[in-house]
Amino acid sequence: MSSYRDLLQAAKAEIEEGDAKRVQALIDEGSILVDVRERDEWEQGRIPGAVHIPRGYLESRIEQAVPDRSQPVVLYCAAGNRSAFAAKTLADLGYERPVSLAGGYTDWQRNGLPTELPRTLGPARQTRYSRHLLIPEVGEEGQLRLLDSRILLIGAGGLGSPASLYLAAAGVGRLGIVDADVVDETNLQRQIVHSTNSLGEPKTDSARRRIEALNPDVEVVPFRERLTSENIERILEPGWDVIVDGADNFPTRYLVNDASVWHDIPVVHGSIFRFEGQVTVFKPGSGPCYRCLFAQPPPPEMAPSCAEGGVLGVLPGVVGSIQAAEALKLALGIGEPLVGRLLLYDALSGEFQEMKLRRDPACPVCGESPTITDYIDYVEFCAGVGH
Ligand SMILES: [Zn+2]
Repeated sequence: MSSYRDLLQAAKAEIEEGDAKRVQALIDEGSILVDVRERDEWEQGRIPGAVHIPRGYLESRIEQAVPDRSQPVVLYCAAGNRSAFAAKTLADLGYERPVSLAGGYTDWQRNGLPTELPRTLGPARQTRYSRHLLIPEVGEEGQLRLLDSRILLIGAGGLGSPASLYLAAAGVGRLGIVDADVVDETNLQRQIVHSTNSLGEPKTDSARRRIEALNPDVEVVPFRERLTSENIERILEPGWDVIVDGADNFPTRYLVNDASVWHDIPVVHGSIFRFEGQVTVFKPGSGPCYRCLFAQPPPPEMAPSCAEGGVLGVLPGVVGSIQAAEALKLALGIGEPLVGRLLLYDALSGEFQEMKLRRDPACPVCGESPTITDYIDYVEFCAGVGH
């Protein structure tokens, strides 16, 4: 029978150990550095450039991290014992030159060598976002990215309700909400971010309270005003990664479009009417903008709003949720955003359709020789058509 001490001595006799100075030289020469400590130790500080493979996962994960067995590998733990066993394991797996850091991370720090604090989610966020962490396309890095991202919602109405709730639940760190209205009884059939007890309250306050209760990681930045040529620069000033446009009127859509082209911010556009919804992404530089598609707004009598034409309550739930999905993809830089594609949903027939959209080289805002280079009077522009 062998004791722990015997096993450790045997392992150390078989493998190569290096002190902190020597290990640094090996790292400088291109050795791969593997931290075999547990997660909580790793979170408290590490040697820059290290790959984290806890000792218990070494056999199963090392081949992915270091496929070439002739590559020199330096292993470290807290004091140099677990890494000695780890080096022996690597030797058994056929690695030609595993080296264990003698004295471990403790000795490394004592020698004043560089360390860094890795950015991690911490235990509470790891639990909250665990279903995101399980998706390789998101993971811890993606979740940190979402927590750093800033998304501006135009409107806290039908589309803004599901979009803001899902973006908040997903952990988007900062959500701006632009809305001048107060919660009204006719809103509650579809605007699920509000509730009966918030009737009469500004929508920005009502949405903020609900979002903060859902996820305290989210900072809500309310703009209780109607978006205009006069205030849009101030509202865009803090910097936004994505705009989710849930506006229900044409002047705002044109205004958001022009500003987004000039500020190079992608817009996730959604619109709804009765049973039909549309979603697309206007990404400056890589697809058409709103004006490429609609150089002129429709005459007001041809474009009734929900207030005039009605809408099935769940429709904005579907469309606003798709907008949230597109916004998350843009924030994460994953997938194929709906750029140059218009997704149409018909709730009555239960069908989705897709239309290709093209950029207009003659577009007055994003085209080759733009003729509109500053904000105009959007209300007048939209009212003046056909007259
Ligand atoms: Zn355009």
